[in-house]
Amino acid sequence: MYDETCVFCREIIKNRNAAFVYEDDCVSAFMDSAPIEDGHVLVIPKGHYENIFDIDKEIYIKIQLAVKKITMAIQDSLKCNGLNIGQNNGRVANQVVMHYHMHIIPRYYPKKINWEREIVDKADLEIIAKKIRENLKKVDEYEKSGRIT
Ligand SMILES: [Zn+2]
Repeated sequence: MYDETCVFCREIIKNRNAAFVYEDDCVSAFMDSAPIEDGHVLVIPKGHYENIFDIDKEIYIKIQLAVKKITMAIQDSLKCNGLNIGQNNGRVANQVVMHYHMHIIPRYYPKKINWEREIVDKADLEIIAKKIRENLKKVDEYEKSGRIT
């Protein structure tokens, strides 16, 4: 499923215009171009689903598993003190892009969330993305060795 009018389908999946951190057969994760905090990542299905109401259940589960893996790599990479995972459904719930996406937002004590979002240069996002990708390899190795499940 592909929707040419959807910015994630067109710019992320088709044009690959993002700093990617993770991909598998049906999930893609990349740096938010206007991060709420350093290391803000979005995790999306490669197929177009609008939100929780229409997403395929198996794709939904694959996204949750990817989110868990990515959060571990973010924590290793950025040494955040915690993180928020969020997902909005419908315009009334502040969903802006109508393609299912989960936010992973690292938190750094004692900083408060700053909702004034600004576009960050892709080269700067790529520096953080590279760190997260490298730590994802470690998470994979730990999983294979049974050190984490
Ligand atoms: Zn889409």
